[in-house]
Amino acid sequence: MDLYEYQAKDLFAAHGVPVLPGDVASTPEEARAIAEKLGQTVVIKSQVKTGGRGKAGGVKLADDPADAQTKAEAILGLDIKGHITRKVLVTVASDIAEEYYFSFLLDRTNRTFLAMASAEGGMEIEQLAVERPEALAKVPVDAIKGVDLAKAKEIVTAGKFPEAIADQAAEVVVKLWEAFVGEDATLVEVNPLVRDPQDKIIALDGKVTLDENAGFRHPAHADLVDQDAEDPLEAAAKAKDLNYVKLDGEVGIIGNGAGLVMSTLDVVAYAGEKHNGVKPANFLDIGGGASAEVMANGLSIILGDTDVKSVFVNVFGGITSCDAVANGIVSALDILGDKATKPLVVRLDGNNVEEGRRILAEADHPLVTVVDTMDNAADKAAELAAGA
Ligand code: GDP
Ligand code: MN
Repeated sequence: MDLYEYQAKDLFAAHGVPVLPGDVASTPEEARAIAEKLGQTVVIKSQVKTGGRGKAGGVKLADDPADAQTKAEAILGLDIKGHITRKVLVTVASDIAEEYYFSFLLDRTNRTFLAMASAEGGMEIEQLAVERPEALAKVPVDAIKGVDLAKAKEIVTAGKFPEAIADQAAEVVVKLWEAFVGEDATLVEVNPLVRDPQDKIIALDGKVTLDENAGFRHPAHADLVDQDAEDPLEAAAKAKDLNYVKLDGEVGIIGNGAGLVMSTLDVVAYAGEKHNGVKPANFLDIGGGASAEVMANGLSIILGDTDVKSVFVNVFGGITSCDAVANGIVSALDILGDKATKPLVVRLDGNNVEEGRRILAEADHPLVTVVDTMDNAADKAAELAAGA
């Protein structure tokens, strides 16, 4: 989960990383009130989950509360790379002597954590990495050893931070590491990390990605979820503990096991080319122990998607045998009753498949078509979606 800048800075502050005071506003009037309270020159910053806000006109200085209101009015509603600004951060403006870049991230390729540091911050780091790679230090961080003051000093020295502020910057880096580990983040980025004219180091921007798999360790992180931006079907699926991702096609997909569901998406997309270009409408993995209840939950999410015209249930019986899955489908359709409105193509294979198919044949549900192979079932589901 990516955080907004204001949320990232709240986490920074909680871990002792120096940030400037501020608050978030949804209206120009709120922005004015915050500026009044801060009582000095402020920066109004678009809160969108993308970079390059400065260049896009999403970061503006305001000298007084009236100016803050005007600038907030200009920024609220601003579209930055397809992200509409719904909130602005109103924060104390800093004078800037120098701008640095700093980040910790999970380096999956090298199976380690990585610190990146550069005395040439402010600009987009992707650009710096391409144009002047030697200016961007990359220092691996051992997960067990972590980052103490000595390691932090090594990192900022590699990033060519000036000697005069290196010790102070190293202290901030240790705090950023504590935030990174303590919050179970996969990315903590500060660009710019500034040196002000009094030589104080401050995080002027913040980008944080939290590892949702560690969410159970951080009940407070639930409050950071942006309810407005979340897809309602994905939110409903999450509430039912389903692994669901909304896609933009017409064929609803249910399968057991992420690998099987992924290949089902491919097979349906391929079959769809012959049927009006229909595509998969979602990813949904109901996992190994697909009980009737889980099947009903999954079906009800998919049937609630108005884009869905047909559903492909693709199950390989393993520990949960095909007869259990077939019973699950039959009872799910019972549970859903009139709410089950779209044709279902079911392909079962694996453990106890004969009995599974017998159960479905006996139930003889008018919406259900049983097809023996994955390719033929995908073709049938695509055909039904295209014809609907
Ligand atoms: P981004 O463009 O989305 O990364 O947004 P940033 O928060 O990094 O802001 C962009 C630029 O605006 C920074 O690199 C600074 O140059 C400038 N900026 C941001 N906050 C302040 C501030 O408090 N004072 C001044 N003078 N400039 C600021
Ligand atoms: Mn930035």
